[in-house]
Amino acid sequence: MIDTYRHKGLRLRLVDEIERKGITDSNVLSAIGNVPRHLFFESSFMQFAYQDKAFPISAGQTISQPYTVAFQTQLLKIKSGDKVLEVGTGSGYQAAVLIEVGAKVYTIERQKELYNKTSTFLPRLGYRPLFFYGDGYAGLPKYGPFDHIIVTAGAPYIPEDLLTQIKIGGNMVIPVGDKSQNMIRITRISATEFDQEDFGKFAFVPMLKGTAK
Ligand code: SAH
Repeated sequence: MIDTYRHKGLRLRLVDEIERKGITDSNVLSAIGNVPRHLFFESSFMQFAYQDKAFPISAGQTISQPYTVAFQTQLLKIKSGDKVLEVGTGSGYQAAVLIEVGAKVYTIERQKELYNKTSTFLPRLGYRPLFFYGDGYAGLPKYGPFDHIIVTAGAPYIPEDLLTQIKIGGNMVIPVGDKSQNMIRITRISATEFDQEDFGKFAFVPMLKGTAK
């Protein structure tokens, strides 16, 4: 697995592109500049790695668009050492970006094949989140509450179990909707109060119930 100057150059161009599209957080921009996205692609598709586009990976899933990864990460407002739950491990790219901005990451995936693949692959790049195979609708009650929760699949509604796992003062960023999604940030004000903000339309693969082999 090689990261060359050419790859680094392409990454800097990608960073410029998402900055032009409105990402301002310098920690997030450096994270995108640091994660070798081409290594998350099959070798025949590597030339697509530094385009600002989502791309199909194994098991019918996608690696999210870099702009979307950066946008969600920026909305979380992570401080170094914050505990973050990610729903939808997928390729592991978003988890790597979260680690780059200083988060301690817990990531859960419902597809066994992807869980197996990514939990083997990501540590080889030096990224070591805690990996879980299970249904993200339930979150990880034993490991919560979390400073931040990020959902990387389109949720038909806001799962109640995830709300209870946000620390007071913490937040959750979740795309909500059936066909297309609105990016919603929920901030937990107190044990019972939540603030909700809408950041507009995005498109995600669906958040599904239960687990798959
Ligand atoms: N964060 C990933 C995005 C992958 S696409 C990345 O950076 O590549 C969304 C992922 O969410 C898919 O892998 C899908 O299998 C997973 N997913 C969908 N519903 C889920 C659920 N209920 N629990 C956990 N993972 C889920």
